[in-house]
This record gives sequence, C-alpha cells and structure tokens, in this order.
Amino acid sequence: TDNQAGWKMDNSYLQLPNIFYRQQKPTKVKAPEVVIFNESLAEELGLNCEPFQNDKGAAIFGGNEIPNGGVPLAQAYAGHQFGHFTMLGDGRAVLLGEQITPDGKRYDIQLKGSGRTPYSRGGDGRAGLGPMLREFIISEAMTGLGIPTTRSLAVTSTGEEVIRETIQAGAVLTRVAASHLRVGTFQFAANWGKKEDLKELADYAIKRHYPDLDGEENLYLSFLKKVITKQAALIAKWQHVGFIHGVMNTDNMSISGETIDYGPCAFMDNYDPATVFSSIDQEGRYAYGNQPYIAGWNLSRLAEALLPLLHENEEEAVKLAEEALSAYPDTFEMEFLTGMRQKLGLFHEEKEDKTLISELLNLMNNNNADYTNTFKALTFGKLEGSELFKTEAFIQWHERWQQRLGRQEESKEDAQELMRNNNPAVIPRNHRVEEALEAATKGDMSVLLNLLEILANPYEHSAEQAEFCQPAPPSANPYRTFC
Ligand code: AMP
Ligand code: MG
Ligand code: MG
Repeated sequence: TDNQAGWKMDNSYLQLPNIFYRQQKPTKVKAPEVVIFNESLAEELGLNCEPFQNDKGAAIFGGNEIPNGGVPLAQAYAGHQFGHFTMLGDGRAVLLGEQITPDGKRYDIQLKGSGRTPYSRGGDGRAGLGPMLREFIISEAMTGLGIPTTRSLAVTSTGEEVIRETIQAGAVLTRVAASHLRVGTFQFAANWGKKEDLKELADYAIKRHYPDLDGEENLYLSFLKKVITKQAALIAKWQHVGFIHGVMNTDNMSISGETIDYGPCAFMDNYDPATVFSSIDQEGRYAYGNQPYIAGWNLSRLAEALLPLLHENEEEAVKLAEEALSAYPDTFEMEFLTGMRQKLGLFHEEKEDKTLISELLNLMNNNNADYTNTFKALTFGKLEGSELFKTEAFIQWHERWQQRLGRQEESKEDAQELMRNNNPAVIPRNHRVEEALEAATKGDMSVLLNLLEILANPYEHSAEQAEFCQPAPPSANPYRTFC
C-alpha cells in the first residue's frame, strides 16, 4: 500500500492564489518502466524502496498513478530567455506534491516529461530518455561535489517515442527540489498578478526558505538580500569546479539557491572563460566566465519584480533595490576567493591572493591546461602531464605560491588536506557522460551506474577514479550540448 511506500505528502502550493498554478494530472503513458532509481535519496525522503520495485513504482514515476496525498499541478512562471521576457510555466512537468521527510524537511516531488499542460504552448510535454538520464547524472555529480542542487529520484521510460532531431525513447524524470520557486515565478507575479499576489508569493518563499527573516524590519528587502547572498555562493561554487549551466534564464534560477534545470550544461576541460557548450548559445551569453555577471543580471530582474513590496514610494524602492544589488559583486568575489584559496591550500586571507589566483588562471588559459587536473596536480605536487608546468612563468608562479604557503602557520600536510577536500579527482567528463548515455539508451545501464558511483565521492581520490580523470582526446568537433 501507499503507507508502506512512505509517502507523506503535503500540498502547500495550493494555498497560493490560484493564478500561480493549474491543477493538472500527468498524461498516462503506455508502458512505464523504472530505468534507474536513487535508493539513497529515497531513504533520505522517507520512502521505502521495496514497494517501488515492481509495477507500482513504474506507475507512479511514469505518471499513471498519483501517490497517496499528492495533488498534481503545473506551476505558472515567466522568464527572461536569453534576455527576452516571456510567459512560460511548467510546459512538460507537474508538481505531485511536497514530501515531508522523517526529519521534517519539505521537498517538491516533480515529474518532468509528464505530458502537456496549460503552459505547453507548442510543445509536446514530453522528454527523451537520454536528456533525463543526463540530468540524473549531472545533478547527482553536483551533489557529490557538495553543490546545492535539485536531485533526481528516478528516470522512467514510457514505452512511447518522442520526436526531436531524431526519434528517441520517451522518459519521465522524478525531480526533487527544496522548491521550484524561480526568479521567473516572481516575474510572473509582478507582471500578471496583483500586488497582493506578489506579497503572498514572497511570504510563501520566505516561510519556506528563509523563515529566520520573520520579524525583520523590511522583510522583503531582507528576502532579496538573502537570495542575492545565496546565489552569489552558488555561482562561486560552479566556478570552483568549472560547471557551465548553459541556460541561465531567469526561469532557471531558483529562489532557494539550488542549481536547477540541467539542459545543455557541461563541465569545462581546459580553463577558458569563453567556454560555451550549448548549441543555442551563439553569442556566449552563458559562457563560463560570464556566469557571475549573468547571475547579477538575473538578480536585478528579481529586485525589479519585488519593487512594489520594498517601499510604498517607487523612488525609495528603487534606491533600496539598488543598494541591495550593489552588494552582489563583492559578495560573489568574497565567495569566489574563499573557495579558490581553499583550492590552493590557503587558510587565511592575504592581500595579494587575488593576483596569485588570477595569474594561475591566466597561465592555465594561455597554456590550454585542464582546469580540474591542474588543481589536482598542485594538490599532490605531481607537476606532470601539461606543458603549463614547464613554462618559466608557471615555475615563477609556483615559487611564489610555495612562499605563500610557507608564510602560514598551518602545516604542509594540513594545506594538502584542504586542497584534497576542495579539488575534485573527478568531474563528469563530457565523453564519459556520452559513453554512459549511449550504452543506457541501448539498454545497458552498467556503464552509467559505474559512472555514478565514481562521481558520488569526487574528493576521495581513489585508485578507481584514475581512469575517469582524463579529458576526451582532442577531436575535430568541439563538444556540443542541446536543450
Ligand atoms: P527549459 O529550457 O527547460 O528551461 O524550458 C523552458 C520552457 O519551455 C519551460 O516553460 C518548459 O516547461 C517549456 N518546455 C520545454 N520543453 C517542452 C516540451 N517538450 N513541451 C512543452 N513545454 C516545454
Ligand atoms: Mg527551465
Ligand atoms: Mg531544460
């Protein structure tokens, strides 16, 4: 029964004004089959695995049956897509409800690829098996890296086909998130709702994600500042591991500060701020080096949406918003430098650290050095495998870094430990992800399961991880990703 499965669903989103959603059941699918199920995540959620290891699991995660207590709905939101504002909403997803975990946390359980909704516009509401497995791999890799993210509970094939560039097997992803509130949800409220709707949304977001703010003098200004701080910390973490989101539209930026919407994302090999993988990002708007700026741009859109709540007088509201936003660049830089210091084994701050860090990055860029492997080589003092290490400029940089390490009280061993814990041995290398997806879409899940295991503990630096460290051999065609 459902009780044995462990569902403890609440539906707080239904309490919001009804402009924010439409009740919508998933569309039934022909022959659902669970392709992969995240047992450790299920356990964290208070779900028991056994009841799902049969047709019941497939029926639920394929969208044919609603779990006990769930009231499925599609969420309304808007967003700036590549800078252009438009109405969006869940066009191929439904929120089943919020699972309350044994330790009292609340998580959205969403099906993605679950059929058309009132927000589908021209879309078919469906998703392909490859892209949903890709989201599973990358989001779980992010979890392993210690980066806030939505999670993947299951991927279920539908027994139906979806038509994209090619014909693919259809699938539904079960996504778990602190919530699916986006910058775009606030843009929707500001543009299509009354002030009272906007206020109810903000109160909901505060209650759900920033309850400590309760009682603040200017509650909504404090809320804005919190989201700014959270996003600055998140983007810094992306930069630290070379993660490129690929489609940082305002509808893909979460209010809780989790990474959300894994479409054309990928990890950078050689360090180059101009790196772009997404086939639709022709102008490099969402290039690696542009991510901090874009996050700031998106936060300005959030601030704009919140203006009516910041102050009754519009000019005053703008002043408050600008003041809050002006903290973003420094907050980001502080977070970025803190993490980069850790990657270099530095425990405390020195004025010259920023130069030391940016010089290393420039050297990597000029010498086509692999970002992840360079930091790993520095961690273990194994300066091999890259032309970079032979250059005079690097040798000089290395000498200065050694002197810097020598000036701190902490031992070399402690510094190395800090570096081990902040420089991953493995990231989801693009060719490894592709290899896993190719096997999986042909019915062999073993390559993917093995990859997931390797990516689960990236700071372990184990022998098994060694063969997953190399970037793809150079090929004629650069790696390209699709939405
Ligand atoms: P994304 O690029 O994944 O952030 O999606 C942008 C918007 O397009 C969202 O509103 C999605 O729900 C919608 N969308 C994406 N793919 C489909 C699809 N196959 N059918 C309907 N809506 C879609
Ligand atoms: Mg999206
Ligand atoms: Mg997408």
